[in-house]
Amino acid sequence: MVEELMSPGTRTCAGCGAVLAARLVLKATGKDVIICESTGCMEVTSTQYPTTAWKVPWIHVLFENPASVAAGVKAALEAQSNDHTQVIAYGGDGGIVDIGFGAVSGALERNDDIMIITYDNEAYANTGVQRSGATPFGASATTTPAGLESIGKKQWKKNIPMIAVAHGSKYVATASIGYPQDLMNKVKKAMKVKGTRYLHIHTPCPVGWGFDSSETIQIAKLAVQTGMWMLYEIEDGKFKMTMKPELKPVDEYLKMQKRFKHLKDDTIKIIQDHIDKTWKELDNLEKSGVNLRTIL
Ligand code: SF4
Ligand code: MG
Repeated sequence: MVEELMSPGTRTCAGCGAVLAARLVLKATGKDVIICESTGCMEVTSTQYPTTAWKVPWIHVLFENPASVAAGVKAALEAQSNDHTQVIAYGGDGGIVDIGFGAVSGALERNDDIMIITYDNEAYANTGVQRSGATPFGASATTTPAGLESIGKKQWKKNIPMIAVAHGSKYVATASIGYPQDLMNKVKKAMKVKGTRYLHIHTPCPVGWGFDSSETIQIAKLAVQTGMWMLYEIEDGKFKMTMKPELKPVDEYLKMQKRFKHLKDDTIKIIQDHIDKTWKELDNLEKSGVNLRTIL
């Protein structure tokens, strides 16, 4: 049996997808890992002094710099001739996609030998569910509230996985807590690659998204089954879908969450069209065999 390296009984909300992501990541890495984690839900709920839920070495770093600290830790290990310990910069969408993105970009550009993982709950959840660059179009957040004149967030989700590829990363993948084996396989694959690797994990948040805590896995799977979250990996620039479901209408996913409850048919159609177009373009990309590292 694989050892559990994330202790039970953390202070996350019931049904939290983010803590499940951490548990699965650690199952894949095993003990020989150092986690450099920025402020965020998983940090505030798992490491109240003097306790920790992480049964591996773990460093709390600022929102801005998990990737820089991870690069420094890796350099220190190299100075000790340690070439086996995995170093992971770990953060939420606030920490990796927005506030810490400068350091993430720097690590990717230098090709520091670290793994960067985002657990994406699509908002600044631990500070009150403000919108982030990863919040989806049409979602109501506390800084983009839905109302008579507002559909919620007006921008599409920032595409960090492709931005990581554009930096030249040799391994980039998306994953979901709804598909744990796929997630752990991707972490294991990333561990074998040298240089900066990027993994983006979709982690539903009952509190921020407005669904029952018993529905987390159902929501995670529906995101993939409707194309709101697409599972793929890009190895050495070659794009591959790792799951190709017969897509369900996106309405099935949206209607289960309070953050989308206000959406009218015309906005839902905009979202559906966006998914259909992206799905087709990614399918074409896969069939074309184009190497993204040479063109981005
Ligand atoms: Fe998890 Fe969301 Fe609660 Fe944060 S706010 S601990 S992501 S359920
Ligand atoms: Mg977040």
